[in-house]
Amino acid sequence: MHISKAVYLISSPEVDKCPKADRPEYAFIGRSNVGKSSLINMLCKNQKLAKTSGSPGKTQLINHFEITSTSKEGMKDFSQWYLVDLPGYGFAKVSLNQRRQWEKMIENYLRKRENLVMVFVLIDSRHEPQELDLEFVNQLGEWEIPFTMVFTKSDKENQRTVAKNIRSFLDAMRETWQFLPAHVVTSAIKQTGRDKILNIISELNQQ
Ligand code: GDP
Repeated sequence: MHISKAVYLISSPEVDKCPKADRPEYAFIGRSNVGKSSLINMLCKNQKLAKTSGSPGKTQLINHFEITSTSKEGMKDFSQWYLVDLPGYGFAKVSLNQRRQWEKMIENYLRKRENLVMVFVLIDSRHEPQELDLEFVNQLGEWEIPFTMVFTKSDKENQRTVAKNIRSFLDAMRETWQFLPAHVVTSAIKQTGRDKILNIISELNQQ
């Protein structure tokens, strides 16, 4: 897939205020600092598209980007879809109240947004399985929301450590689930995993 255009559209405080649900939508979420903005910018080949980590006190918004893509560069088979940057979880200093607000907004978005096709859950490949990430993917599983796991920053540790951390995460998920969703290993620095993620989106767009 070739991305011919990626533009920021709107930030919404809740699902009911999001743009009309008239095209396929793909959401990106993960702990703060997991590398979400860097990944979105890498996918769209635009270093300024998504802003890096907002501060925890800031309003947490659902950010829509409008993407125009073609199957290959130069082709005219345009398709349009939404890429959504969701506010991250796991800020060290948020109040209980802020956390509850985040949970409510995210649950509403994930469960009500009818054009949501796939959630990409970002997980930092440098770390052993983190409780917050496991809780989040398990929750998605319970809600039966399709997701793909994206293990980020794979250039930062040696490959053995990255592979071990991913294996441990998947093993921890197997304690709850018989079948696991797909996963992709990425590095925004080395541009790893870009084609895989775009292929997933491209295939789903055609369904
Ligand atoms: P966000 O808070 O999830 O949006 O995370 P950012 O995209 O702002 O990234 C947090 C920090 O990690 C920044 O300093 C990035 O430069 C760095 N970072 C993000 N992705 C990668 C990556 O793939 N490799 C390396 N080495 N650093 C990364």
